[in-house]
Amino acid sequence: MNFLEERIVRDGIVKPGNVLKVDSFLNHQMDIALLDEIGREFKRRFQGKPVTKVLTIESSGIAIAYPVAREFGVPLVFAKKSKSINIDGDMYVAEVESFTHRNKNQVIVSKKFLTKEDHVLIIDDFLANGCALQGLISIADDAGATVEGLGIAIEKGFQIGGKVIRNLGYQLESLAIVDAMDAETGAITFRSQEN
Ligand code: 5GP
Repeated sequence: MNFLEERIVRDGIVKPGNVLKVDSFLNHQMDIALLDEIGREFKRRFQGKPVTKVLTIESSGIAIAYPVAREFGVPLVFAKKSKSINIDGDMYVAEVESFTHRNKNQVIVSKKFLTKEDHVLIIDDFLANGCALQGLISIADDAGATVEGLGIAIEKGFQIGGKVIRNLGYQLESLAIVDAMDAETGAITFRSQEN
């Protein structure tokens, strides 16, 4: 097991409805040393990619994307969730359905912060059905930017998102892939990965 898998086994809580709670170290209380290690690991996995921006989605993606952006020495841009229907032409817009909240949000990125010159590394905390990542990919596409890869802390491998994104031909790196989890026993099974 790698460092993140070990931490998930120690402190993650499996909830009914295919939800893994990691709020004691990743997305409510945050373990900064762990986040720094995540940043270094993504730097290693995307070594040599000409990344100019890290792109994520608020709010829990920001904590993961921050140390990655620091490692690459590039700005971090996060897509904002917007309730406004009066979005002007200065924004890229995508519709994202939230897995955890079961609602739809428009997410927006200002055209000022993403252009066709950009090489984007997309980062998020979880991958479930892939809506969040597809929204971010469509924003990068609208900007004419190049997607250099996608990095996820925890992929739930029993949901469809990972397959969809890999089938699109992108380099998708997930630090932990959960292949099965049981809310009754708390058991978590990881996919073995060579890294
Ligand atoms: P997707 O768009 O891939 O269906 O879901 C990804 C988003 O839903 C992530 O940005 C994450 O915030 C949230 N999410 C999905 N599954 C889980 C989960 O099991 N636990 C937590 N804490 N968040 C999740």
